[in-house]
Amino acid sequence: MPIKLNVWTSAGVASYMALRFHNTLSGQVEDFTPLEGDKVRMYTCGLTVYDYGHIGNYRTFVFQDILRRYLKYRGYEVLQVMNLTDVDDNTIRGAKAAGIPLRDYTDKFIQAFEVDRQLLNLETPEIVVRATDHIDDMVKLIQELEAKGYAYRSDGSVYFSVRSFPPYGKLAQVDLSGLRPGARVDTDKYDKTDARDFVLWKAAKEGEPFWETPLGRGRPGWHIECSAMSMRYLGETFDIHSGGIDLTFPHHENEMAQSEAATGKPFVRYWLHAEHLIVNGEKMSKSLGNFYTLRDLIARGHKPTAIRYLLASVPYRKQLNFTFDGLHQAQHSIERLRNFRYRLTEEKFPVGENPELQARAQAARQAFEDALDDNLNTAEALAAIFDLVRDANTAMDQGEFREGNRPVFLDVLERWDRIFAVLEDTDFAKLRQLGFVKDGMEFVTLAADLILDDQEIEKRIAERGAARRRGDFARSDKIRADLLTAGVILEDTKTGTRWKRK
Ligand SMILES: [Zn+2]
Repeated sequence: MPIKLNVWTSAGVASYMALRFHNTLSGQVEDFTPLEGDKVRMYTCGLTVYDYGHIGNYRTFVFQDILRRYLKYRGYEVLQVMNLTDVDDNTIRGAKAAGIPLRDYTDKFIQAFEVDRQLLNLETPEIVVRATDHIDDMVKLIQELEAKGYAYRSDGSVYFSVRSFPPYGKLAQVDLSGLRPGARVDTDKYDKTDARDFVLWKAAKEGEPFWETPLGRGRPGWHIECSAMSMRYLGETFDIHSGGIDLTFPHHENEMAQSEAATGKPFVRYWLHAEHLIVNGEKMSKSLGNFYTLRDLIARGHKPTAIRYLLASVPYRKQLNFTFDGLHQAQHSIERLRNFRYRLTEEKFPVGENPELQARAQAARQAFEDALDDNLNTAEALAAIFDLVRDANTAMDQGEFREGNRPVFLDVLERWDRIFAVLEDTDFAKLRQLGFVKDGMEFVTLAADLILDDQEIEKRIAERGAARRRGDFARSDKIRADLLTAGVILEDTKTGTRWKRK
């Protein structure tokens, strides 16, 4: 089995390190062993498609991508199911506001989500499913829960009886002592302190889409969707279920209750949850003006690979503080790696092989793998590669790097990039292919530069002046906007353009 790896400690004694994940269910870091050989069955809650994905969503999706890439790297065969929630309170509200059918409304955001995923180099899960294509599975599951006494009807809706299932609350550690019998909740989202019987099937309401089913006219509750779809493709018990930390309650708690009540078997063996993303130390919210979709960042000139790098750089169980400084640094880190690879491929080195450097490369690979084995510690995996790049650059400068070292170093870089996927400079081509950049247009990434020096600013102001003189005001406006993004304010006076830093 490729999962176990031999680690030699300084004393020369072999110890064995396995791949380990933090399991929300136990609150512990556990060795990972799939249910069946080297096959990993994994379910990830995808986007609720009522809007463009924001960077908090993509933090979770990048984590899940790194998870699946590393499982494959470790020799596992991954079967990942990702759902798209295309019927719930939010999607219905959005379609109503837009005055179009639900399916048309969600189609648009599903397409946008696919485009965003390509931009961020997110691998496509083996199975991507829409909730509205699985209404029958949901109805069957609800009927089963009714037959077993875990569900009851009221006013045309069907509810899960929390009291009938004593393990309820074990995932999110919910205290049920305040639970009033028969108290029910119809909304998809609610608080842990408000745990009550939740809705499995919602009776049709005026102006809402509904399905004609043996349960009556209505639509599924959000939670039953994921129970039905995950078990349909992955079986009653599967290996990994993951999502953002905010899904732990009520969504995942309810999924687990529904599934385990119906089957009498454990639903999921490892629950993995990614922490929140905050912006400049504050909760991201539209009212604070610090809310960014992926597209907002691209429109400001940031490169998708830099965004991916930043979102991947903090271990998933740590809160990620998103800042534009951090994004600039991410861009620079990527450039450093690309420059190193360029040097590694293009430069001529003396013949031979430096054994110390060979060992150094192997140690970096080991450190990178150890870090990811340890509950996907991406920060340490990055550090391992940057230490290696620094040492190799020094060795090259001092003429100690040899031709024979090249393949090993390239191999370590390639392995690292199988997980992080940022070394190929494909941003511009992809943005053009996906229609973000039109032919002949320039994708100016001023925002990706750190701070512009005075000379660079003067150069761009001169460029803007030339554009104005030839009547190309689109170009001159663009330069002005780019400079503003970089914190430089222009003022046109009779004697010319003056500038100052913000
Ligand atoms: Zn879900």
